[in-house]
Amino acid sequence: MQSKIKLYKDLGIKDFYNSEPINRTIKNNKEVVKSELDLCNSLDELKKLVEGFDGCDLKKSAQNTVFADGNPNAKIMFIGEAPGANEDEQGIPFCGQSGKLLDNIIAAIGLTREKNAYITNTVFWRPPANRKPTDEEIKLCRPFVKKHIAIINPKLIVLVGSTAVESLLEIETPITKLRGKYFDYTNEYLDGQTIRTTAIFHPSYLLRQPSHKKTMWFDLLKIKYDCQIDSDGNIFN
Ligand code: URA
Repeated sequence: MQSKIKLYKDLGIKDFYNSEPINRTIKNNKEVVKSELDLCNSLDELKKLVEGFDGCDLKKSAQNTVFADGNPNAKIMFIGEAPGANEDEQGIPFCGQSGKLLDNIIAAIGLTREKNAYITNTVFWRPPANRKPTDEEIKLCRPFVKKHIAIINPKLIVLVGSTAVESLLEIETPITKLRGKYFDYTNEYLDGQTIRTTAIFHPSYLLRQPSHKKTMWFDLLKIKYDCQIDSDGNIFN
């Protein structure tokens, strides 16, 4: 390095800069994120904010930001854990093996993601080697998920697996104790409004434990009955 500096001096170069540029636009400051989210009113704006957010290190190793899929006008919003390899490649949540199972689960109540379901995750980038997102990663993405819920404003939120429960209900109760129950979810973007929320097993758990599929169908039919969901995805209760 010293010899390089001497060479530059000999060449008459007086100013030296680190070759790594400092990115002064990185959006990881809590206050910046909060003020941007306060001003954000549409799904397109939110998507851009998420895509431009560099505060979560998961983004560094991911190929794509995985924002959401389905009908934004749907009355039911499904929130999973995190993108896996297929999702990372295609930028679409639940498009791999567990996604196929989730589609079947949604079909059990007569719905499809294209027509009347909306799907997202608690974090927007694939964790390396499909590990569970850390508490810090969940916390960094949570404000975006909260705003996402407020913009979609569904009548029912279905938390898919325990990570979604931990992120949004901020409890660590296992799904076995939560399934079949309902919670009033709210956050600072909902202006006092509450949204009926329930939890189901994650499809990847069912792929590992197929004997629990029966329980899942039971839970879905119970949700359909309790919430009086019709074939167009309208919710009457
Ligand atoms: N598992 C999830 O929780 N989300 C996805 O998008 C894919 C698999």
